[in-house]
Amino acid sequence: METTVLVIGGGATGAGTARDLAMRGVDVTLVERDSFAGGTSGRSHGLLHSGARYVPGDREGAEECIAENRVVRRIAPHCISDTGGLFLQVAGDDPDFFEEKRAACKELGIEIEELSAEEAREAVPDLTEGVERALRVPDAVIHPTRLTVANAADAREHGATLLPGTEVTDLVVEDDAVRGALVDDGSGEREIRAEHVVNASGAWAGKLAAMAGVEMEMAPSSGVMVAVEYDGLGTVLNRARPAADGDIVIPHDGQVVLGTTSVDVEDPDDFSRDERDIDRMFDECGAMLSGLDPERIDRSYWGVRPLYSADRERHAGRQISRGFHLLDHAKRDGVSGFSSIVGGKLTTYRAMAEATSDRVCKRISVEGECRTAEESLLGHDQPGRIDELVAEFGADNPADADVIAR
Ligand SMILES: Cc1cc2nc3c(=O)[nH]c(=O)nc-3n(C[C@H](O)[C@H](O)[C@H](O)COP(=O)(O)OP(=O)(O)OC[C@H]3O[C@@H](n4cnc5c(N)ncnc54)[C@H](O)[C@@H]3O)c2cc1C
Repeated sequence: METTVLVIGGGATGAGTARDLAMRGVDVTLVERDSFAGGTSGRSHGLLHSGARYVPGDREGAEECIAENRVVRRIAPHCISDTGGLFLQVAGDDPDFFEEKRAACKELGIEIEELSAEEAREAVPDLTEGVERALRVPDAVIHPTRLTVANAADAREHGATLLPGTEVTDLVVEDDAVRGALVDDGSGEREIRAEHVVNASGAWAGKLAAMAGVEMEMAPSSGVMVAVEYDGLGTVLNRARPAADGDIVIPHDGQVVLGTTSVDVEDPDDFSRDERDIDRMFDECGAMLSGLDPERIDRSYWGVRPLYSADRERHAGRQISRGFHLLDHAKRDGVSGFSSIVGGKLTTYRAMAEATSDRVCKRISVEGECRTAEESLLGHDQPGRIDELVAEFGADNPADADVIAR
């Protein structure tokens, strides 16, 4: 089989890249070893960040988030729940940090409103007694399986070939250039030849790059999430303190998802899961919201962040930037026909796809403007269509299993 661009990895980033390239008229094939969103995307917490989490500290990350938050609301209303969010100062939290966050949000144009403890409790009656004040922010909840499947299906509408359940077992390298990949869908190995190969395999990107003899300094980091039956929470809760374990609660209909942690792992396919972290989520998130009952756990799951650190010695875990990195291996490693897109967040998947597609188009000499920030995703105007597509692809992931089942 031959294709112009082969995208490896059917998470939000890879599916978004396939859509972007297909919309520019490029012949593109997307391979995913699992089903869509079967890697980190479908095992994430599901917060459409407003950017407020990243200030003070990471102004660029916050700017990226608020810009993409607005785009995703516009193009993918069927993949989000517009719940809004609150940052809560709890007794013992540093009030200066709250002030700095408020000032930085204002400066960046992130829409905020300060609430007294009483006003916050009026909005969310089950807040704990410890809550001292709150900042309302434009967070939302994102359903990653819907988002990823919508991107993949939209890519197919624009002519892309989708190959879920297909693993890349090796890359084809000839004369210092990647020329394609060997893939296996369970019926034996075959070759897909391509002019350019995009490595969008997230936390597995280092493994894929190694197949082309390229070393990538991935620093994967795992986090736990716990979905608990809970009625009546209608907004995201964040703790107004420097990023730490268990400081976000995501509302679903009839459930809340508590999280998360950040633990460095060597291998995203084989890492230890400390069950005690589940109890810790109840302790930490319980400082914001009362009535969380460990007897009512519906599911718990771990995901692995595709973090990239060119300087792993000095940065680890939460210190590693959540910004994204586009690596052009021709420039960086002398291996042409090959790019990797790593890091980032679900919230910024579209911007990552745009940057990747811009670079690839330059490499394959295709002229074409990115239109993904303007054109709504498939299914936005057809209620129920997106869940039919999720069922068609057999995409079943813990992040939004309860939402899609309904
Ligand atoms: C605990 C946790 C919580 C998070 N919470 C949030 C949040 O609330 N909001 C937010 O914006 N971001 C969040 N993130 C970050 C976000 O989930 C990720 O940055 C994003 O989903 C990564 O998407 P991706 O497409 O790059 O990677 P992935 O979704 O992992 O996609 C890569 C794909 O490549 C496939 N693959 C790997 N190897 C091969 C191979 N050999 N052949 C074929 N396919 C292969 C994998 O199966 C996988 O599906 C969270 C991450 C974690 C871990």
